[in-house]
Amino acid sequence: MSITIENLNKHFGNFHALKNINLNVPTGKLVSLLGPSGCGKTTLLRIIAGLENSDGGKILFDGQDVTGKHVRDRKVGFVFQHYALFRHMNVFDNIAFGLTVLPRSERPSKEKIRAKVEELLNLVQLSHLAKAYPHQLSGGQRQRIALARALAVEPKLLLLDEPFGALDAKVRKELRTWLRDIHHNLGVTSILVTHDQEEALEVSDEIVVMNHGKIEQTGSAEAIYRRPENAFVTEFLGETDAFEGRIEKGAWHYQNFSWPLEKQYKWQDQTAVGYIRPHEWQLAEADRAMITAAVEKIHAVGALTHVTVKHGGQDVHITLAGSDAARLDLAVGKTLSLSPKQVYVFGQNELIE
Ligand code: ATP
Repeated sequence: MSITIENLNKHFGNFHALKNINLNVPTGKLVSLLGPSGCGKTTLLRIIAGLENSDGGKILFDGQDVTGKHVRDRKVGFVFQHYALFRHMNVFDNIAFGLTVLPRSERPSKEKIRAKVEELLNLVQLSHLAKAYPHQLSGGQRQRIALARALAVEPKLLLLDEPFGALDAKVRKELRTWLRDIHHNLGVTSILVTHDQEEALEVSDEIVVMNHGKIEQTGSAEAIYRRPENAFVTEFLGETDAFEGRIEKGAWHYQNFSWPLEKQYKWQDQTAVGYIRPHEWQLAEADRAMITAAVEKIHAVGALTHVTVKHGGQDVHITLAGSDAARLDLAVGKTLSLSPKQVYVFGQNELIE
């Protein structure tokens, strides 16, 4: 089922929580709503579900207007961060629950319910826990059961609100891969709310970056990461260091260094900030370097070495391949000359390149 959102607005009193949201979620895709706390992700999800009213705008499921429809009639499955499973029911009964409360005319037979639950237990790889009770499960297992429960009624749309938010980093990472595989197998249109950019980049077909109730950018993970359209998106997608420079004669200039801009920009002689990601630095000859600075800190993690240098009073973060670090005989106090492989330049919050 495809989801279309047109000119959606939401106020809480005087507070404008969602500002003219327009969005299309194609059938079978997994789309993430990504943004900082309070940007309106959950509110948007709740309005899509029918748990909250909007004030103005439309929501279409497969082209049909569902704006005034009750949550019951939207065929939506949910998984929340703290989706409490029924404590007094075992795993099997928890998954079966949604089917057992369907109106008599739609309710499957006992055998069909059993077969469906077994199929879902298999899908979430927890068949051996059918008789367990929620308190006997780990957090990760509970969320897998919560997903199985949401899928039991064969929703046309799956809404996931920070489903792994309460789990530790290792389990989160495992469940991300798992969610991506399950989604790939089932192909149910899904919307995932997260404030974790790594999670969004890893699992989504498309990412919707939100800030202050507005959509900042929509696109594939690759497009959002490689071609961020403004400073907010650039900074939100991962660590960057910012350098205040100027645009002159089709290039961004920072001290003696210049970065040619492919696009001719309409204004010149303008202060513009260049953002550089830690892994987008390279070692350079001193006369071609953007910065030359002494190493302050070194931290090796697996095959990568994270280096902090001090430049112009600010910390600059650089990630080098371990082999480069070894070749350099890296040590605190050693001077490095570095130039960027990529600079994202924004003047007045507008993308230049
Ligand atoms: P988080 O990741 O922290 O849950 P979010 O992006 O999901 O954040 P929302 O929960 O959608 O953000 O909230 C958006 C804004 O609307 C917040 O400023 C919040 O305080 C406000 N808000 C949400 N629900 C209500 C409500 N029922 N009444 C008043 N204000 C609300």
